[in-house]
Parts: sequence; C-alpha cells; structure tokens
Amino acid sequence: MDTILFLAFTEPDGSLAKPALEALGAAVAMGAPLTVGLIGASVAGAASQVANCGAARFLGVSGEEFGQSRYATDAAAAEAVARAAGATIVIAAASVRANRALPGVAHRLNGAIDTHVTAVAGGPSIARWYYRQRMEAAVGRTARPWFILLETGCHAAWSGSPGEVSVESVAVALPPLRTIVTGVRSPQSGVETIRPDARLLFVAGAGWTKKQADGQPHPREATELILGFLNKTHASLGGSKSLVDLSGEGEAVLPFMTHLNQIGQTGASPRHPKGLSTCCHGEEPHVVGWRFVTERRAVNLDPNCGWARGKADVVYVADAFEVMRKVNALLG
Ligand SMILES: Cc1cc2nc3c(=O)[nH]c(=O)nc-3n(C[C@H](O)[C@H](O)[C@H](O)COP(=O)(O)OP(=O)(O)OC[C@H]3O[C@@H](n4cnc5c(N)ncnc54)[C@H](O)[C@@H]3O)c2cc1C
Repeated sequence: MDTILFLAFTEPDGSLAKPALEALGAAVAMGAPLTVGLIGASVAGAASQVANCGAARFLGVSGEEFGQSRYATDAAAAEAVARAAGATIVIAAASVRANRALPGVAHRLNGAIDTHVTAVAGGPSIARWYYRQRMEAAVGRTARPWFILLETGCHAAWSGSPGEVSVESVAVALPPLRTIVTGVRSPQSGVETIRPDARLLFVAGAGWTKKQADGQPHPREATELILGFLNKTHASLGGSKSLVDLSGEGEAVLPFMTHLNQIGQTGASPRHPKGLSTCCHGEEPHVVGWRFVTERRAVNLDPNCGWARGKADVVYVADAFEVMRKVNALLG
C-alpha cells in the first residue's frame, strides 16, 4: 500500500498558503497513511495550522537559509524530508519553489515526478493536460517515490481547527551555498492584478487602445475604467497577446498590463469560474486559454467577433467604454 508525504514550503509569516492546503486536501483524500513535511524559516505555525489533518508524523526543516527560494537549499531540505518519511507518494502544491526543486529531488531518490497535475485519484492515478491544454491524460506510474505537483484551484483546500503537534526536526547536510538571495523584484504591477482566487476573470483586449468612434484612442479613460472595475470587484485581470505586446511596440498602452496577464495558447489558462472579455476579438489562440472558464461573456462592437461563434455564452454587441462606465456606476 502506498504511503503519502505531503510536502510544503511555508510562507514568510510561517503559515501555509491556500495552494498548499489544496495539495493537503488532495493528500488526505487519498485515504492512505500520511506524513506532513514542512520546510521554511519557521514551521511551527504551519504545523499547528494543519495539526488535525490526520497525519501520523510531522517532519520539519527550519532555519533562515530555508526561508528563501533557492534550488540548493530547497532540494536538500526536500530530499532529507522525503528520505526521513520514506513515503511512496509525495504530494506538493505546484509552486515556483516546488516546480524548480522537486524534479531534481525525485531524480536523487530514483523516483518519478509529474508536474502540472490537475487531479489525483485513487489507484493512484493523476490527471494532466498536454499540448497546451488540448488533451487530458490519466496517468499511473509504478516508479516510487512518485512526486505529484498539484496545480492551484484543482482541489478543495483542507480546512480544520489548529492544534498542538510536535514536529520531528530533520537534519539537512547542505552543500556549500553559491547563491545568495538579495531580494525579490516583481514585474511592474502585473502581480497585483493577477488574483487566482477571484470569482471573475476580466479580460482586456487591444480594442481598449484602438481609435474609437471620435477617431482618437482613449488609454487614460480605459485605464480608469478597467482599474475602477477591478478595485470594486477584486476580479483578476487577463489580457490578450495583442494588448500585452503593444508596450514593446511603443504604442499608447495600459501601463498595468504585463505579459504575466496574457491569457491563451502562449499565455496562461486560469481557472476562474466566470470570465468577462472586453475589446478582445476572441481568436482561437486567445480563447484556448479560457478552457477552464465555464461561464463566459464578452463585450465587442463586432457582431462577427470570435466570441459570437460559440465561444461565449453571452455576447453584448456594444461599446465596452460605455458598458464599463455604466457597470462601474452601478457598482457604486
Ligand atoms: C502561435 C500564436 C500564438 C498566440 N498566442 C496567443 C495567446 O496566448 N493569447 C492571445 O491573446 N493571443 C494569442 N495569439 C494572437 C491571437 O491570434 C490574436 O491576434 C490576439 O488574441 C488578438 O488580440 P485582441 O483580440 O485583443 O486584438 P484585436 O484582434 O485587435 O481585436 C480588438 C477587438 O476590440 C474590439 N473593440 C474595439 N473597440 C471596442 C469598443 N469600444 N468596445 C468593444 N469592443 C471594441 C474590436 O471589435 C476587435 O474585435 C497567438 C497567435 C499565434 C499565431
């Protein structure tokens, strides 16, 4: 019978973020003997956060050098925890840290790894999308340990009351460290407008920057309308490739848009339950990024735009400037 290790990196405040709790939810749902393994500057808070998840053991690696995302320390810590746990299946959230460090750890342990996993089922088997989200495969493996990195938004987060638990400290033999993390630099504004937990994905297309009925573009008003809507609704902001590319071509653009906002074949495929597209044509390379967005509406001046060809539930043939002005006013 398989045994499970739920592995997580703690946040700067010592807690576990929602993606980690989702991975824990998936690990618990497998119904097999469970060990929790925590890595971070401090792990006590995270351990008490999930104390009642049903795990038989809690293993921890803590210390300042494990607070920062760095391959050498993350991989060494994860390897030590995985060896101490001796589990046959390791489940972690597909965070930047896990995606980077755990493939190497799986290799060191002669195991296997699947990244970008969207479901874990009994058997065990996993679901994973291929070819830019066009084909879904169910995958089982005989290799052990089997590392499974679960994407966010694919499983209900584990929830339960906190409690007291004693964490077994795992010793880590660190290699000489050649990388010093001096800080984090984020792309301008992009991160703050991307909200994976939002109920609504608001997509802005290149039309927001195009000449309008009066023969002039209105980027400043577009900025006010879009940011006004985001502030009132806390929706997540997506963009078409044409819009996010415009900044590279020196056009009048929306300054808060970066390539991180891009939805589509060469962008992201987010999992918001609802989406509203504005001033975006709805071409196939863009719309494939909406695969997981099940309720879709679009505002476009063009009744023959791609959205009107079966890609949205509702298309409002209207001026998005007028529509969003009215919507924002109604939101108050
Ligand atoms: C290999 C490849 C990969 C690609 N990957 C991606 C990808 O990942 N993501 C992506 O987005 N694209 C991608 N594209 C590009 C994609 O095909 C389209 O070119 C792009 O999505 C068009 O962006 P858009 O709809 O915002 O702009 P446009 O095509 O310029 O459309 C603007 C729309 O705005 C509407 N409009 C203008 N003013 C208003 C107004 N006042 N009110 C309402 N509507 C208005 C117009 O009617 C028009 O439909 C890819 C293309 C290729 C070839």
